[in-house]
Amino acid sequence: MTKKCIYCGAEIPKDSVIDFCEKCGKGVWGEKMFNAIVENMNHARSNGDLCHSRVDEIREFKTTFD
Ligand SMILES: [Zn+2]
Repeated sequence: MTKKCIYCGAEIPKDSVIDFCEKCGKGVWGEKMFNAIVENMNHARSNGDLCHSRVDEIREFKTTFD
């Protein structure tokens, strides 16, 4: 079972911590922000913290940068 990018539908690794591909992520958030999100998600996953509201978490996370 593979996941698909929520923006362009490209296949992404099923163990990816994010629901979109790198290209779209960088397009939406910019490279620096994208890398920060991935880092944040990897950290959350390593803490066993990752839940179903990942997109909401990303939104919250983003607002801290706005
Ligand atoms: Zn994509």
